[in-house]
Amino acid sequence: MPRDLTADALLRDIFGFDAFRPGQGEIVDAVAQGRNVLAIMPTGGGKSLCFQLPALIRSGVTVVISPLIALMRDQVRGLREAGVAAGALTSGNTEDENNAVWDQLHTGQLKLLYLAPERLASSGTQRMLAQAGVSLIAVDEAHCVSQWGHDFRPDYLRIGELRRALDVPLAAFTATADAETQDEIVSRLFDGQQPQTFLRGFDRPNIHLAFATKDGPRGQILDFAAARKGQSGIVYCGTRAKTEGIAQALRQDGHAACHYHGGMEADDRRAVEERFATEDGLIVVATVAFGMGVDKPDIRWVAHADLPKSIEAYYQEIGRAGRDGGPAETMTLFGPEDIRLRRSQIDEGAAPPERRMADHGRLNALLGLAESLECRRKTLLGYFGETDTTCGNCDLCDAPPDTFDGTEAVRKALSAALRTEESFGAGHLIDILMGKATDKVRDRGHDTLPTFGVGKDLSKPQWQAVFRQIMGHDLMRPDPERHGALVMTDAALPILRGQDSITLRRDSIRSAKNRPAVKAMVSDEDAPLLSALKAKRRALAEAARAPAYVIFPD
Ligand code: ADP
Ligand code: MG
Ligand code: ZN
Repeated sequence: MPRDLTADALLRDIFGFDAFRPGQGEIVDAVAQGRNVLAIMPTGGGKSLCFQLPALIRSGVTVVISPLIALMRDQVRGLREAGVAAGALTSGNTEDENNAVWDQLHTGQLKLLYLAPERLASSGTQRMLAQAGVSLIAVDEAHCVSQWGHDFRPDYLRIGELRRALDVPLAAFTATADAETQDEIVSRLFDGQQPQTFLRGFDRPNIHLAFATKDGPRGQILDFAAARKGQSGIVYCGTRAKTEGIAQALRQDGHAACHYHGGMEADDRRAVEERFATEDGLIVVATVAFGMGVDKPDIRWVAHADLPKSIEAYYQEIGRAGRDGGPAETMTLFGPEDIRLRRSQIDEGAAPPERRMADHGRLNALLGLAESLECRRKTLLGYFGETDTTCGNCDLCDAPPDTFDGTEAVRKALSAALRTEESFGAGHLIDILMGKATDKVRDRGHDTLPTFGVGKDLSKPQWQAVFRQIMGHDLMRPDPERHGALVMTDAALPILRGQDSITLRRDSIRSAKNRPAVKAMVSDEDAPLLSALKAKRRALAEAARAPAYVIFPD
């Protein structure tokens, strides 16, 4: 009886699934037709099927490159149980096992050959593959080819060579969606020829997205948990110490809660994992060490007591909620101290400069999401490249934010920073703007600056919200080498020059009545300071129009 080789029939008869997941069908078609394909799907999205099924449709054998022996073993076992001829060549095999696989390959019985990347270093392997009737190369976890990534595997760099030698189509799979990694995959695996690219399945419509600015964060977490008593949840914290403190506070509130972090004994960690998997309604308060391998389907909520380090980390962490498809909720707290911490972690890390720039970009994307003025899901999925999103399940769809034209406030703030030679943090700048003659302000003569007191129309919390958003929009960055002094970025120039305006969230900013008229802000006494600043920032000197609050008399 001839076997039915249509994709739908194979899906049902071999893999035992009723339907394709979002995106799988079109990827399967493209790979089966022999296109070069780059497919980006989140973890758990079902990438394996997207090369396993086409391998059965295509003649000959499909070579699968995969970075982990355990992953290969699992897949080979699963395929064999389904009656598919699959084998793996890894260093974990005995010689007999490897010989058996080579035999199957040579007699043309094998449909899928899993290969550890180290194997590609052997010219023997490459020669054998050239004779084996390979019709497709599938690369799992393709981001391992990225030198700036955490999972870099040098042997992945040999895959391009193999593709050229065999001259067969290549399909690459990864869950990593950022643009730099994609570019690296395209240049290293496809010699820069753009493959057909699919980015699917990142939307998790059952997860409610919400952010809140920190305002007594421990109390905010306790309130959030109290409203969800008895549900399983995770609280992610930025430090180990905090996990213990919050877990204890939750227990005092009558929750079942425990902490989890990388500093704990392996046995204690395992005990928590075990409890979480089996017990209903447990809250785990954890650092990011908790997550790999957490596979509980009915986690009902994830709260961040501190801002994650990037938009990818955020997505992964909230993605642990609601795996069963049922409603799940998230809340991410953030404040200026998070921004400072995350920036300094990047700047003080060991990564090379290019990598650091990319990391700042990933943090910026998350801050953009935190300060977003429109649907969070649109913003989040837009970052991952998914465009036609419907939502109705985020805090901004629930209630659009209250906004105002923040251009003037931002220019005042930037101006205060420039006039103090970008040497101070938000607190001191706010004192200057609000006209508070503190000791520090007087000692440094900042009470004579033209910016002194121009911001009396806003309260201190209102200014804090402005500064947080200034950092969130990456108009100023804390300088880790100078105690977090705020330094302007190039992104601030158009606003300072009056070429651009900026809309801010109102937060606690109430209507500013009795706004004082803006004084002339440049006088002769400022000349030495101004010329120093001018030398420092030639870009500003080119400003077409003299901005209202700043800077250069000429
Ligand atoms: P990824 O590699 O993208 O992380 P996997 O390929 O490991 O995901 O698949 C994750 C899970 O989803 C597996 O248990 C797999 O059997 C299951 N799965 C894949 N495709 C389907 C489908 N069409 N229907 C139901 N389950 C599926
Ligand atoms: Mg996988
Ligand atoms: Zn929304």
